[in-house]
Amino acid sequence: MTEESLTGCVTRYRSGFYSVQTDHGTITCRLRGRLKRSRAGGDLVAVGDRVQISRQEDGSGVIEAVHPRRSALVRPAPLDWGEYQQVLVANPDQVALVFACAEPEPRLRMLDRLLVMCERQNIPPLIVANKIDLVGEEKARAMFSVYPSLGYRLILTSVLDGSGVAELRRALKGKLTGFVGPSGVGKTSLLNAIQPELGLNVRNVSRATSKGRHTTVVREMFALEGGGYVVDLPGLRSLTLWDIEPEELDGYFPELRPLVADCQFSDCNHHNTPGCAVLKAVEEGKVHPDRYESYLRMRFGDDE
Ligand code: GDP
Ligand code: ZN
Repeated sequence: MTEESLTGCVTRYRSGFYSVQTDHGTITCRLRGRLKRSRAGGDLVAVGDRVQISRQEDGSGVIEAVHPRRSALVRPAPLDWGEYQQVLVANPDQVALVFACAEPEPRLRMLDRLLVMCERQNIPPLIVANKIDLVGEEKARAMFSVYPSLGYRLILTSVLDGSGVAELRRALKGKLTGFVGPSGVGKTSLLNAIQPELGLNVRNVSRATSKGRHTTVVREMFALEGGGYVVDLPGLRSLTLWDIEPEELDGYFPELRPLVADCQFSDCNHHNTPGCAVLKAVEEGKVHPDRYESYLRMRFGDDE
């Protein structure tokens, strides 16, 4: 038997089968049994992973090895016997965090928490503020103004009048982008505006996933006509910061990161420790009070 070894990228998963895109086309693959048994509490292979496959004589493939991940967005799923780490996407180039300026009101605490998650995984975030037609561009910009000042890219959009859609399309080009956002913010409409049917396809896959229990999971990344892919990240919005130690949280706030060296005590909690440089910066208006509030809530609980 001649077996051909190929490298590819996993673009789809459904019920034990992976679609792997290679130079020789897309090949449907199973996972090598040896790999399955080594699976330790989390998805061994996920959409976005680069994998080594061997092609079988019948045209199908077997995944033999997974390349190390640059990054991953993970959702811990409680199981009867513990916790299982679902990998929503591996190796994304960026994550689009979609919020509405109104209807529903933007939950900036949730945005801050998602930004921490991106910082933790070293994935550049792309903040999308949709429905600017409801409040006007000026007010929309003001609502999100702290974020560009921290170095985060902000794109203001309206599906209703089309503003910002071309800019978003350009920002997605050639990249693998994960999409996350509360329901009702217009994620589906935005994706449809970027490319016909795109939002519908994404939504159908996510629906299938959320209906199923652990077994009938479907994940898929969708190709963009101009190059690049988008993938939905369902359930990330309710993410708890499960793998971040309280003491390291300040490192994931770009405006706090450079301050902590100036705190009097190296184990400063930036809340009630004397000689805190962060508190001083908040009092002097150099750190936005809402961002500081988000920090406190993430660090000490009482989080939404
Ligand atoms: P999703 O749950 O995030 O996928 O949101 P949908 O795409 O289903 O949109 C939710 C609602 O918001 C729908 O009634 C859309 O027509 C509406 N919508 C989406 N984008 C805009 C927008 O830019 N402006 C306004 N005014 N409404 C929008
Ligand atoms: Zn401090």
